[in-house]
Amino acid sequence: MQFHHHGYVSGDPRVLPAGVEDRPSELPDEVDVLIVGSGPAGMLLAAQMSQYPGITTRIIEKRDGRLVLGQADGIQPRSVETFQAFGFAERIIAEAYNIGWMNFWGPNPDNPDEIVRTARTADYAYDICEFPHLIVNQARVLDYFAEAAAHGPARITPDYGVEFLGLTVHEEGEHPVEVTVRDANGERTVRARYVVGCDGARSGVRAAIGRTHVGAMAAHAWGVMDVLVNTDFPDWRTKCAINSEAGNILHIPREGGYLSRMYIDLGEVSADDNRSVRHTTIDAIIEKANAILHPYTLDVKEVAWHSVYEVGHRVTDGFDDVDAGSDRTPRVFLTGDACHTHSAKAGQGMNVSMQDGFNLGWKLGSVLTGRAPEALLATYGAERRPVAQQLIDFDREWSSLMARKPEEISDPNELATFYLGTAEFPSGFMTQYTSSMITGTDAHQALAGGFPLGKRFKSAEVVRIGDGNVTHLGHHARADGRWRVYAFADRDGSALAAWAEAATPVFARFTPADADVDAVFDVKAIYQQPYEELEVAAAPALFQPKTGPLGLTDWEKVYTSGPYKWTTTDIFEARELSRDGVVIVVRPDQYVAAILPLDAVGELEGFLEGAFLPAS
Ligand code: FAD
Repeated sequence: MQFHHHGYVSGDPRVLPAGVEDRPSELPDEVDVLIVGSGPAGMLLAAQMSQYPGITTRIIEKRDGRLVLGQADGIQPRSVETFQAFGFAERIIAEAYNIGWMNFWGPNPDNPDEIVRTARTADYAYDICEFPHLIVNQARVLDYFAEAAAHGPARITPDYGVEFLGLTVHEEGEHPVEVTVRDANGERTVRARYVVGCDGARSGVRAAIGRTHVGAMAAHAWGVMDVLVNTDFPDWRTKCAINSEAGNILHIPREGGYLSRMYIDLGEVSADDNRSVRHTTIDAIIEKANAILHPYTLDVKEVAWHSVYEVGHRVTDGFDDVDAGSDRTPRVFLTGDACHTHSAKAGQGMNVSMQDGFNLGWKLGSVLTGRAPEALLATYGAERRPVAQQLIDFDREWSSLMARKPEEISDPNELATFYLGTAEFPSGFMTQYTSSMITGTDAHQALAGGFPLGKRFKSAEVVRIGDGNVTHLGHHARADGRWRVYAFADRDGSALAAWAEAATPVFARFTPADADVDAVFDVKAIYQQPYEELEVAAAPALFQPKTGPLGLTDWEKVYTSGPYKWTTTDIFEARELSRDGVVIVVRPDQYVAAILPLDAVGELEGFLEGAFLPAS
C-alpha cells in the first residue's frame, strides 16, 4: 500500500485525503449520478464513484440502515480479486469460510435409503488463481464497500430511508433525469445527469424505463436455512451436493466455524400453486433435510435465517434506457438483479452484480470528468448483457443437474465433473469482452498468450526493483479509475527505453495538464534481467514519475521477472510473453484492452484516440 503521497499520514492510510469540503447531509436537488439501491451492485458502484470527488454521487436506499442479514454468501475468486482493488481482500478473507473442498453424496447402492459419499473434489479456486473461493455474509461485503465509499475522496455514504418512486428522462437539460423519491418528509424530486438502478429483482427503475424481464419463472422451489446444529453428518464443515431418494441438498458451511447453510429441494411447483409453497414452515424444511440426510440426523439448535423461493431465469430486454436504433447515449442504467435473476445455487448473483457495478463505475467517472466521450456509456449494456445471458444458461444447467432424482443420474461423478470442468465460469474468469472502442483487436495476441485480449488481467509474481520485494503485479492496481499500462521489456531494455520516450507525449495528450502525470495512466515497466543487475534510477522517467503536491518520486513502478530468491515465477514464461517485449493496456476494471509490440506507439495512440478525449 502506498501513502504519505500527499504528506505524512499518521492515521489509517485507507482513509484517503478528502476531495470534497462539505458534503450535504440532505439529498441535494441536483446530482451527477444517482444510484438507487445499496446492494452489492450499488455499493460497489458507490465505492468506485468515491474516487471522483468532482462528481456528485448519491446512493439512495429504502432500508433505514445497513443490511443486517444478507441472503448471498458465496464469494467467487474474481470478486476477491476485485476486493483487492478496493483494498479489503485480506480483511474479508480473514473472517470468511474458505471453500477448500466440494464433496458429493448419493444413494448407497446397497441400501438406497441411505446416503454415502461418492466423490471428494478439491475446489477449483487455487487451480485458477491466487484468490480463494469464500463464504461470507453479504452484509459484511456491503460493510466493506461502504467503508471504501466513505473513505474515498468523494466521501460517499448511503442516504438511507429514501425510496425511489419513478423517473422521467427529459430530452433537454444538463440534469435530464427527473427522479421522484420519498423520504421521511414526503415526496420530492431530484434531478440527475445519470441514474443507475441497482434496486434488485423487483426494480422500480427497470419499470420506469419500460424494460421487462424476459424468461420463465421455473416451477421448482427450494427452502434455504442458516442453522446452528449438532449432527453426526461427517461433512458438516465441507461444502457438499447431496442427492438422495428423498431429494437434494446443497450444503454450504459458513464463516465462524459453526453455522451452515442448506438449500433443500422442495420439488416441482404445480401451475396452480399460487405461491403457497412459500408458506412452507421451517419445521417442514428441517424434516425434509433430515429425510434427505438419512442415516445422519440434524438436531437444529438455532435457525439464524430461513426462506423459501422459486427459481426463475430471466434477463432484462435492455440494460439501459436507449432503444435499439436510437443514436442517443444512455441516461439510465440497470445493474445486478434488476437486469438478471436466476437460482442461488451456483453462487453467482451477488458476484455478477458486483462486476456490473465495476464495469459501469469507471465509465461514468471517465465521461463525467471529460476524459472519455459519452459513447463509452453505450458499452456498458453491450458488454454486460451477453455476460448475463451466459450466467442464466450456466445456472439453468447447474440447478437442473442439482435437482435431478437418483434414477436420472447414470454417472455418479457427473455433477463433480461438471463442477470442476466448468470452473472458470463460476469463478468469474470466463468473461471476455469483444472488440469495441475500449477493447482492441487480437492482432498481436501471439506476443502475450497468457493475457487473452478482453479477459481480466491475470496477475503473476514479479520482483519490485526499488526494494527487492516479491509482489503480485496485478495486486497493485487499485479501483481508482486509472488505466494500467504494463510495458514488458525486451532482453536488454533498449526497445523499452525507446518506447517510453515515444509513448510519454502520447499519454500526456490524454492527461490533464494540471493533474499528476500518472493520473490517467499508471505505467509500469517489467524487465527480464536479474534483480541484482538492475537499478531503478536507470529506468526511463516515465516509470519514475514525480507526483502529488510534494512532487515525490514513485518508486513502485519498476519491476523485473523472477525466478528470484523468493519466487519461482518467471512472468515471461508464466504468461507466454514475447522476449522482444510487449505492452499490455488494462482497463480500470482490470480487463485487457490492448496488446501491442514495443515499436507500435502509433497503434497505441490510435487505440487511445478511440477511447479517450484529448485533455483540454
Ligand atoms: P439487491 O441485493 O437485491 O439490492 C437491491 C437494493 O435496492 C436493496 O438494498 C433494496 O432495499 C434496494 N431497493 C429496492 N427498491 C428500492 C427503491 N424503490 N428505492 C430505494 N432502494 C430500493 N449470490 C451470490 O453471488 N452468491 C450467493 O451465494 C448467493 N446466495 C443467495 C442466496 C439466496 C437465498 C438468494 C435469494 C440469493 C442469493 N444470491 C447469491 C443472489 C444475490 O443475493 C443477489 O444476486 C444480489 O444480492 C443482487 O445484488 P443487487 O445489488 O443487484 O440487488
